[in-house]
This record gives sequence, C-alpha cells and structure tokens, in this order.
Amino acid sequence: MNMSRKPIIAANWKMNKTRSESVSLASAITSLLGPYSAAEVVLCPPFVNIESVGRCLSDSILKIGAQNMHFDSAGAFTGEISPKMLKDIHCSYVILGHSERRSLFGESHHFINQKVKAALCHGLIPILCVGETITERENNQTFSVISEQLEKGLQEVLPLLQNRDIVLAYEPIWAIGTGKVATPEEAQEVHAFIRSQLALLLNQDYAPKIRIQYGGSVKSDNIATLLSQPDIDGALVGGASLEADSFVRLLKNVPIPATVFSGEPLRPTLF
Ligand code: PEP
Repeated sequence: MNMSRKPIIAANWKMNKTRSESVSLASAITSLLGPYSAAEVVLCPPFVNIESVGRCLSDSILKIGAQNMHFDSAGAFTGEISPKMLKDIHCSYVILGHSERRSLFGESHHFINQKVKAALCHGLIPILCVGETITERENNQTFSVISEQLEKGLQEVLPLLQNRDIVLAYEPIWAIGTGKVATPEEAQEVHAFIRSQLALLLNQDYAPKIRIQYGGSVKSDNIATLLSQPDIDGALVGGASLEADSFVRLLKNVPIPATVFSGEPLRPTLF
C-alpha cells in the first residue's frame, strides 16, 4: 500500500445470495462498519440484486459494482447485460476478466478488452483481473501469462483513460477459493511486475496512480500483511465477503494510511 493510493476492497459475491439475503448482508455490513472506512468499499452482488443492494447502500459509504457485463450498449445478445444498464442502476465498478469467466465461460483476451473499453466509455470503473494457474507458476510462466493478459486486455485503453480510473486485480488462480493465499512477498513481486507493465502499456504517469488489488483467499487475518506491501492497494474478496462479521472484520483490519491522497493529514475518509 502506498500513501498516495486509497486502498480499495471489492466484495465478489459470485452466484450467491437471493435478493433478500443480499439486502440483509449489505445492511448488516453497513451497520457493523459504521460511517468510516480506511478503504473504498465496493459490493458486487449478482446482477438481479444490484438495484436492491444499491438502494440499501444509498446513505452509506459503500459503492456498488457488477461482476461482469457485455461490451455493447444494446442488441441481440440473449442473456447479457450492457454497460448502459449497469450505469442506469448506479453501478460504479464492474469486475472484468475474472478467472472464472475466462476458464468456465471461455472469455478471450479480445472479448475482455472490448468490455474494458466499453466500461470506460460508459463511465464505469473496470476491475480487470489477471492471474496464473498453478501449472503456469510451477513452469515459471507467471510473468509471461500476466504480461499477455495485460497487453491484450489493455489494448487501445490509454486514450480512454483521460480523467477516468481503472483498477487491476492480481488473482493467482491457485489461491482463489482454496484457502491457499500467496505470501505477501510472492504477491508483491507480481504486483510490482504489473505496475512496471502498466508503465509500458499505458504511461509512466498513470502507472503509479493505478490501484492493484490482490485476490485469493483474503481474510481478516491476512489483509494487513498483504497491504503492508508497497504495490498491494486493496483486495478482491470472495468467500470472506459472504458473511457480514468476517467481511467487516477484514475491512477494519485495513491499515489507516498516515496520509490519504495528495499528502493530506490523516483523517478517516467519508465518501
Ligand atoms: C474471487 O473470487 O475473486 C476470490 C478472490 O475468491 P476467494 O476470496 O474466495 O478466494
């Protein structure tokens, strides 16, 4: 974590929770968390629950996001959801290129790239996920896999970034939902690599400003050590975000930076 980047924690609820369960979970999180958080917090429920959860977050510091979307604004894409629809229900963020989308639903680099560009064009902040399998790591292919995911996923993105934000998420696939977390040093090594690639693929000015989340079995007892690394700026959280107590414990363990943004003196941030 670097003082100039506000940490961001996003909850990926995946295909879990009915509408009433989603609303109860969001309400419990907001009341347990209270009005302040050291991190920007984003809840990403299933599509059909976004609007109800968003309504229950309207007086809170939490933001709402989606777990996926199509790149087109409208058209004959049965079963898909467009960026325009997400904006219309006040989504701020959208997770794109999650490893489950890549591996279970065959999403290509090109498809993901089209979505990243569409999100930016529609005023949504993409959370672009990258990460390697265990076999790729064991074959020393981590950097080449991630470099390809970044190069292809971020094609033609630079001109769209004027005054717009993008978040990266490093999610080693072997750590997602397995209870096996990368060590802070293992994660930092890849985060630093991602930042160096961002400087090459985007530009030198943007790279230090872009937040890179770590994802993969993040819990309340490992968040602080992960965030103690200089290039880890938050977390994408699956399992531990499905229960209010565990998620709020995790949020409360996010270290409060001595300064937030542009060297301002320490004070809790109220969104
Ligand atoms: C995820 O789904 O993005 C994730 C990181 O899940 P978990 O926290 O359960 O490993």
